[in-house]
Formats: sequence, structure tokens, C-alpha cells
Amino acid sequence: MTKTFPEKPIYLGGIYVKLCEEHLRNFTEKHYKNYPIYIVTQDLDKFVSHLQKEYSPSGEPFFVDYPIFDMQTKIPYVILMTSTSCPFKCLYCASKILYPKYKPKNPEKVFDEILFWYTKYGVIDFAFYDDALLFNFDNHLKNYFRKSNRKKFKIKISYSKWNPCKICYKRSC
Ligand code: SF4
Repeated sequence: MTKTFPEKPIYLGGIYVKLCEEHLRNFTEKHYKNYPIYIVTQDLDKFVSHLQKEYSPSGEPFFVDYPIFDMQTKIPYVILMTSTSCPFKCLYCASKILYPKYKPKNPEKVFDEILFWYTKYGVIDFAFYDDALLFNFDNHLKNYFRKSNRKKFKIKISYSKWNPCKICYKRSC
């Protein structure tokens, strides 16, 4: 990027920045000192409104506010989160640094997102990236199964923590 578009600003954010900001700062200062590279530590909403002020949109925004999986010619699976963080806060776990407060999302909204990818793009494979997907199962994930049964459509669910550590398993993350 810096070779082809040396004048274009690059914004670095996400998990790496949240966990190892100093490491990244040292690295960029050492190797990319003369490029307009910015490390983003503020929360997502603030950053997006900053970008909107800085750069005018080139057209009308897309009608839904989902990640742009549809830039692929075929969407093999979609990544989703039904909650952020974990209520247990184990000492060794980075979950609390990435998202300080456990926050389940509105199930209706998440289900609309599933429905959107399923009906518009035929996606049946959904990968859940929650830290505590199985927490409060009866009032949380079970609702999604019930809803998809009611709508009579079949989806596949995968979860990166189906084989969690003993503690996670007991605590149902
Ligand atoms: S239960 Fe699992 S996800 Fe939750 S804080 Fe502990 S290690 Fe992290």
C-alpha cells in the first residue's frame, strides 16, 4: 500500500492495536515513519464519524449497515457476533481488554442480519465469533434456533470455541 499509494492515509485498528498498541507504534515509527499512518484507539462510532467528517462519501450509503461480505463473488460464510465480551473476566483472558463490558446484542437485529444474508445471498453457513456464545443459553442462543425453526429455514452454525478450555466449558463460553 505505502509503495503504490504513499500519500494515502492508512488507519490501523482492531485487536492488535487494542492488545499491543506500543508494539505497533514502535514498529510503524521504525519502518513507516514518513507515511501518513494513524493508529486508531478510539471506539468505532467515534472513528466512523471522524472519517465521515474527513472524507465526503462518494455516493449513497448502502441500505444496510452490515460488513461488506458482498464484495466477494460468492459468500461461503458470514461472521457474526450476538454479544461482545464475557461476564466472567478470567485473569488470563483478553476478552475484557477488547470489550470491557459484556453486552448481548438485540436478538431481533442479529436475526434480521442472518435473514438478510440467507435470503439475499443464499448464505447458510454462519460463524459466530462471540467470546461467550453459550452463556445464558436458554435466553440467548436458543432464541435464534427457535426463530430459524419457526421461519423454516436451515442454517449451519460454527463457533470457534466449540472445544473450549475446561474453565470456559464450565462457564459455558
Ligand atoms: S470464561 Fe472464557 S471467554 Fe470468558 S473470560 Fe474466561 S476464558 Fe475468557
